[in-house]
Amino acid sequence: MTGIVTTPDQPHRKSNDHFGGKPRIYPMRLYGDPILRRKAKPLAHTDALVVPGFEAQSVREVANTMLETMFEQRGVGLAAPQIGLPVRLFVAVEYEDDEEENEGQDDAPLRSRVLREYVMLNPVIKAIDRKKDRSYQEGCLSIPGIYEEGVPRTRQISISYTDLEGVHRTMEAEDYLARVFQHETDHLDGKLFLDHLPAEVTDEHRRDLLKIQQASKNFLANLSAWEKEKHRHIRENL
Ligand SMILES: [Zn+2]
Repeated sequence: MTGIVTTPDQPHRKSNDHFGGKPRIYPMRLYGDPILRRKAKPLAHTDALVVPGFEAQSVREVANTMLETMFEQRGVGLAAPQIGLPVRLFVAVEYEDDEEENEGQDDAPLRSRVLREYVMLNPVIKAIDRKKDRSYQEGCLSIPGIYEEGVPRTRQISISYTDLEGVHRTMEAEDYLARVFQHETDHLDGKLFLDHLPAEVTDEHRRDLLKIQQASKNFLANLSAWEKEKHRHIRENL
């Protein structure tokens, strides 16, 4: 298992709560945020998207900013609901598996180790080999600091999706990459990796989860204060 997925001792990088304009990276929606529990809607590659707190952007711009956000947070995947967008879009990345060479260089730019980036619209997963695999540790950028092994995932899948040019594509994936695609597609259906584990596991993390939920509440309060202020400003300037 590569250490890139964000290791347990990795300090959680704070979201920036500076709203407005086109952001360099997006603030992360956290465990407890209702948007992480909603079923996301299909989208077209030509759509304009509004990430709450920011200007409208094209799907390509949003996908690029999601990739930046994912690199900054040292993740391997990021789904649109995690930035507050209820649409069926995710980004993911495969890194070179050169753990030994990079030992002790955790701050090396992740970009330099990217094998392939993925941007998928409306992904649909089919199992090729129904065998379940539980051998990797999983974490989630929306549940910072919590990692668990034993999430059962289909070992070998095919995934159909639309790309940024609107072209329909299908590819196969296995093992770790298959797991990443399943984790991200779950987000589009309002599902989190902890949902796949027994309740005792969630209970063990209760205290940390409460902290994350509180951070989520604070974020949403800031966002809604900003939106109210923006609407007031627009009304007064009509
Ligand atoms: Zn996740």
